[in-house]
Amino acid sequence: MCVTLCSVVQLRNGESYKYLGFVFHATKKLTFGTDALVATARKALFAMRRRCALLGIRDPALQCKLFDTLVLPILSYGCKVWGVDIKCGAAAEALHRDFLRRMLGVRRSTANYIVLAELARFPLQVHFWQQILRYHHKTIALENVRLGKLAMVAGFALDHTAVKGSWQHYLGAFLRGHTGQQQLFHNFDIASIIERSKHQHAFEYFADVEHSSLMLYRTMQPEYKYAAYLSDVKCLSNRRLISRFRSGCHGLHVDTGRWADGTPLDRACRLCLMCNSSDCVEDEQHFVFDCPAYSNIRP
Ligand SMILES: [Zn+2]
Repeated sequence: MCVTLCSVVQLRNGESYKYLGFVFHATKKLTFGTDALVATARKALFAMRRRCALLGIRDPALQCKLFDTLVLPILSYGCKVWGVDIKCGAAAEALHRDFLRRMLGVRRSTANYIVLAELARFPLQVHFWQQILRYHHKTIALENVRLGKLAMVAGFALDHTAVKGSWQHYLGAFLRGHTGQQQLFHNFDIASIIERSKHQHAFEYFADVEHSSLMLYRTMQPEYKYAAYLSDVKCLSNRRLISRFRSGCHGLHVDTGRWADGTPLDRACRLCLMCNSSDCVEDEQHFVFDCPAYSNIRP
């Protein structure tokens, strides 16, 4: 089987080709190209982290800005085309969250909502949609003879419901979800749509009841904003201890006792081993305020 790329290059099975900086594969989906972008971005992230370590840059807010300046442009390359499909951006999202987890010093299993909320970050998909909407606006503003506009007009002229999985189908579905109507090929307020998308993510963060660690975390982080201690606490080890405690990666029995002899252990059975309590779960409340084993160090 051959795939013709721009009527010039023919790819046979197993072959790949880089066109305008994006790698296409004869048989694989666009995720093949986005995986290549992530591999490049990973190297840039490694160089950024190394440089930060050499210069003593530890402030998470500054590191996030550096990520957005040095790494995000690589991850976003060509997202105006592939970004409509969430699966294509999954690897980039994973790299983004891995960067945040390493910076906070929390486990890989820490809930995604906590990692993002601690730094008031949003999924990269929001950024991808912003780029896509801007591309849409720029294209429809072109003269009617420009190839890009003609292609977009031809795509919009199709029956969108019949072309599932197309760029227009994904964009139309996104707009319906955030504006209540499909506004393809019209100007719309991009800023308000992106703001609505962020609010939706924050709403899902507050509505999530599946993660027990998230329920406690929300009591400490009732608003979706940057946790001030991240910049206020200058000692890296102390800052990471606070991050781990807030996110439930603290090593108390309520965290480490989820499994006993290969079987799941109910939360109510994860008792405090420090004071040998028969009914007190060793959770954050018990550890900080109640456990008599630590009464000598409480003020
Ligand atoms: Zn105790």
